[in-house]
Amino acid sequence: METMTAERLLSNVIGGEERGSASGSTMPVIAPATGEVIADVPLSNSGDLDEAVQAAQTAQSDWTHMPLKDRVQVFYRMKTLVEEEKDHLAEVLTRENGKTLAESAGEIARAVECLEFAASLPQTAVGDILEVSRGVECKTTRHPLGVVAGITPFNFPFMVPLWMIPMAIALGNAFILKPSPLTPLSAMEIARLLKQAGLPDGVFSIVHGDKTIVEAICDHTGISALGFVGSTHVAKLVFERGVQAGKRVRALGGAKNHLVVVPDADPEMTATNVVASVTGCAGQRCMAASVLLAVGDTEHIIGRIREKMAAMKGGRELGAIISEQAYDRIMGYIERAEANGATLTLDGREAVAEDAPEGGRFLGPSIIDHATPDHEASCEEIFGPTLTIIRCETLDEALAIENANPYGNAAAIYTSSGATAEYFVDRADAGMIGVNIGVPVPREPFAFGGWNDSSFGDGDITGPGAIDFWTKTKKITTKWSDQHRSNWMS
Ligand code: NAD
Repeated sequence: METMTAERLLSNVIGGEERGSASGSTMPVIAPATGEVIADVPLSNSGDLDEAVQAAQTAQSDWTHMPLKDRVQVFYRMKTLVEEEKDHLAEVLTRENGKTLAESAGEIARAVECLEFAASLPQTAVGDILEVSRGVECKTTRHPLGVVAGITPFNFPFMVPLWMIPMAIALGNAFILKPSPLTPLSAMEIARLLKQAGLPDGVFSIVHGDKTIVEAICDHTGISALGFVGSTHVAKLVFERGVQAGKRVRALGGAKNHLVVVPDADPEMTATNVVASVTGCAGQRCMAASVLLAVGDTEHIIGRIREKMAAMKGGRELGAIISEQAYDRIMGYIERAEANGATLTLDGREAVAEDAPEGGRFLGPSIIDHATPDHEASCEEIFGPTLTIIRCETLDEALAIENANPYGNAAAIYTSSGATAEYFVDRADAGMIGVNIGVPVPREPFAFGGWNDSSFGDGDITGPGAIDFWTKTKKITTKWSDQHRSNWMS
């Protein structure tokens, strides 16, 4: 891949040191809001990964022998550091990802919740013990898996790694991160903060790269478990390849989230909320609203949504689109909308603020209305600030459309009726459901994760399920002496 002059060449982080990649090949990191090259990221090879796994194995054998109570101190300290440095971290995040500073601040605040949850493990991961017969007890103890890895996407480069890292490491594993090469700078900040918080060298590593290193991670026999977050196509490949190599794999994929609006919904609250869901992070969220299923007479709400979206501009309320390729993909859906039989009632292609930085990739919001359920904008993940609207006569029709889509990350309903909400919650085929909430992200200690093609593998990489995912259990049965009336396990 072509290399351009950059301010700095990033390194991998192995054994606590920054190390160049043996591959010698790099890729430019381009700031989406300005088009500037802000770094070069190495595209590592399997030799780099071998080094990282070796360093991680060495470090893990000491780390695992520290009590959990001591291990989590790193995350208490890291939480304080993140809070102290939140403005700097938000700037780095905005620079590499293009989201607004307010959105970066929000992402960092969510990441802090992950650190807090991991720090609470001595109070929450308390194991089981039972007297199964007089004088005989069974208990379960948890043990780390060894060296584990995480592969993460561009859209939440600070938070998504921290979905996995604190839990996996606090539970005694060593962790290797492969961040998106589009947004590797926040990962470097995470490495620095972990070191400053006192994490021993080698317990956390970064190996940068693309497809080649992802495949090497899937195949590496020294890595026991793998968390992946990204698009469905890659999630499925990673899941299958990792499982084939004997790993525990949980892969979270892409999404096509449907919001249902019924006539009794509060118009102002619904419109504000739907618009926030479509336009937040310029639509580059796996929880973003993508399709609005408008049931019956909801014209007054759709009108308000359109007004609010029409007032928004790229480069002001909406941050930048991550890459040229992503920009062209989103433009393509808007360009083809009418040819495919829908009506473009809001065209965001030119809706860019006059003071938006030069060289940035910005778009305003678009609405593709009167779409059929089989329109490409109704079915495919656009991952940009566009809303497709499908008109439905009944809630059952809306549910049938929602449930026929292969993804299952989020679905939401807007209504003022508890009975209607319950009806929808029971029947919607998705893992995360919102009632009058367009981005129904469960916060710690509730785990994040969808269903169907938004998710491959069992278990959770966040929340309490992460305790199971990142550990294995040992079952111990004990009898110290021949107790009176002992009648089992002699
Ligand atoms: P992506 O799938 O392109 O990349 C994710 C990771 O996989 C990156 O580290 C990337 O380097 C690597 N990768 C890319 N192509 C690969 C290939 N062919 N083989 C092996 N590895 C490859 O995803 P993205 O564009 O970075 O992120 C956006 C996607 O992630 C969207 O689909 C979004 O819905 C999804 N996402 C899902 C969740 C969730 O929790 N379900 C959260 C955030 C993002």
